[in-house]
Amino acid sequence: MDFKDLGLSEESVKIVTRFYKKPTDVQARTIPLLLEGKNVFVLSKTGSGKTAAFLLPLGEKNRKGNDDEGRREQKGESTFKALILTPTRELAKQIAREAKRIIPSKKVVTLYGGIPLERDTERLKSWDIIVATPGRMLDHYRRGNVGKVDTLIIDEADKMLDMGFIDDVKAIVKEAQPKQIGLFSATLHPELKRVFPTTFEEVALEEDNFNIKHKYVHIERRKKLSLLKKFLREGKKTIVFMNTQRGVEWLSGKLRQMGIRHVAIHGKMKQRKREWLMDKFRYNEVKVIISTDLLARGIDVQDVDLVINYDEAMDPKTHKHRIGRTARLEGKEGKAITFKEVEELPKPKKKWMVA
Ligand code: AMP
Repeated sequence: MDFKDLGLSEESVKIVTRFYKKPTDVQARTIPLLLEGKNVFVLSKTGSGKTAAFLLPLGEKNRKGNDDEGRREQKGESTFKALILTPTRELAKQIAREAKRIIPSKKVVTLYGGIPLERDTERLKSWDIIVATPGRMLDHYRRGNVGKVDTLIIDEADKMLDMGFIDDVKAIVKEAQPKQIGLFSATLHPELKRVFPTTFEEVALEEDNFNIKHKYVHIERRKKLSLLKKFLREGKKTIVFMNTQRGVEWLSGKLRQMGIRHVAIHGKMKQRKREWLMDKFRYNEVKVIISTDLLARGIDVQDVDLVINYDEAMDPKTHKHRIGRTARLEGKEGKAITFKEVEELPKPKKKWMVA
């Protein structure tokens, strides 16, 4: 299957093939449905190429515009509007970056909290696609800054539920009144379909065709740090996951004492700082990043060799997402290690010499 077999315009195919040779499974199955205007519910992991699967069809809109769209275009108004909702700011930025590459004709605006609302106003004067986190988007709807959209994409929809964003999302759907909805989710959350009273074409991909070697290391708590040090000394591009912000700070302090270069991020840090640190890791300035689950979802960093769960994830879903940070696409192999804490082993009793 090639990009040109999916119903995309010649121009789109020309652009996307500068970056990717062939569509991934999720792209091959989702793009034709979205181009037909269908609502889709796509079960797909991060790393499967889902971002391009929803962006490429958005890039086509207007090209095959009907009369009505054509007329609006003559008046110089934007004719097609899409909204992409995503749970985190990092993911929003990443989607916008991908959009600039593969659908450069679309004007993309990114909106998320942490920066003054007024700064968005100017940018909202002209846009084709908004990529936003739910809270900030709802703020804009409540202020009447944004109108209806044609297509709504909800990325990491299951995470939206987990993070308690679902009421915001519902309120946004009411305001945006999209004609088409694309739900993308890594896990099947039965509640999702109840939230959106529409019929969806479902796309479920084969389970785990990724190449991730994962192993548990059973270890006493007090020995974890020195084992970690051993792994980090191998010089691989590594993400270390901790369960809490305090844990991240603590481990960062320890690594600093040991002279191991790294960056550490968590949700309490200022957005700007977090991005700056992420980029250091992304562009290989530093090889090690310590993070809370902030990094477990969606963030695309190329060529992560190793994921270490210093703290074991709280639930299997999070675990899956964490280890999915390595081995991004089929064919690439990644390694993941989880430190599984065991009770301190009793010291062996002294054996009395028997004459
Ligand atoms: P995503 O699942 O959207 O986060 O994408 C994961 C990674 O795959 C990103 O680095 C994309 O740039 C890359 N990617 C997306 N589509 C393709 C493709 N058709 N071929 C190769 N790489 C791709």
